Amino acid sequence: MINFNVPPYIDTAAGYINECVKAQKICGDGQYTKKCNEWFEKKTGTGKCLLTTSCTHATELAAILCDLKEGDEVILPSYTFVSTANAFALRGAVPVFVDIRPDTMNIDEKKIEDAITDKTKVIAPVHYAGVGCEMDTIMDIAKRHNLKVVEDAAQGVMSEYKGRALGSIGDFGAYSFHETKNYSMGEGGALLIKDKKDAERAEIIREKGTDRAKFFRGQVDKYTWVDLGSSYLPSDMNAAYLYSQLEVADKINEDRLSSWDHYKTRLQTLADDEKISLPYIPAECKHNAHMFYIKCKDLDERTSLISFLKQNEILSVFHYIPLHSAPAGQRLGRFHGADEYTTRESERLVRLPLYYGLKPEQVDYICDKITEFYAK
Ligand SMILES: *Cc1c(COP(=O)(O)O)cnc(C)c1O
Repeated sequence: MINFNVPPYIDTAAGYINECVKAQKICGDGQYTKKCNEWFEKKTGTGKCLLTTSCTHATELAAILCDLKEGDEVILPSYTFVSTANAFALRGAVPVFVDIRPDTMNIDEKKIEDAITDKTKVIAPVHYAGVGCEMDTIMDIAKRHNLKVVEDAAQGVMSEYKGRALGSIGDFGAYSFHETKNYSMGEGGALLIKDKKDAERAEIIREKGTDRAKFFRGQVDKYTWVDLGSSYLPSDMNAAYLYSQLEVADKINEDRLSSWDHYKTRLQTLADDEKISLPYIPAECKHNAHMFYIKCKDLDERTSLISFLKQNEILSVFHYIPLHSAPAGQRLGRFHGADEYTTRESERLVRLPLYYGLKPEQVDYICDKITEFYAK
């Protein structure tokens, strides 16, 4: 059986975790958490990185930092994971969904401005498959309308847009280290914060609304409740697991990219024959091979393909029932403009196995089976 995903594991992880356990330092903000934060600050050039318990929580933290009020509006794609919408809806904000571009499956930057009202406060672009949204256009719209930008860069670790790390372009960027992502700590995430002023407040919100971090640095002589907050610190053991992968981040990235390129080369003939569509990477984007997907003709064909692959011991998946057609999305949000591509394209897309350590022979086998399916 070829699994759809296998979480990354690097040999050094067990030793690092053991070190935390032996030193009895497993709580939050220990040495490995600091190492991870610093690694991302250096890698992305962002002002501040804070490791969190998930990308969902990082986005919630960003939503609190945006000071949203009941009835404020947030613009985002409907084709995304629920967390992008939930984080803002939890603050009482209304998710306003905008259509995607069929080429990248990212929010259509040309349709954002029309969705802006006097209640709009935030744009939340999602970098689908680790391929950057049209960020120059999005940042320009945000600037002209005085809006915050919260990047859902859950899938975008190690990806770039015009040489800048995804997640470091907007006011805030959220990464995910869930086990399905390129780098994992089981459950976990990080928030990238551009502005130093926001960084100080983020530290407080993440520490239950207290100035505990300042206390530990000796900047205040007691710590107390100073703001709204929650508990978004991961255990240092999880950070240790992640750090083992960050030390070999390029190796993991190159391994994934080589599988991705292999798929692309092998499936090109089917695309040339217009049987399937392949992913598109805009020239200004450097991606991280988070995902390899193909698009079938329609929903029926996709259902048959997934089941054919399963009969051949290959696990492939689809995802994202567009949020505006889901029960909570209908209750809490609205779709602005026409749904030209969101539903149609989401029904055609299927994700093929892709993980660190996937072998070229396995990619060949999968491509052989897909070719066989379309020969019938
Ligand atoms: C995985 C993912 C999330 C959620 O990440 P968690 O770390 O599991 O909270 C959010 N948004 C997108 C686009 C994702 O792919």
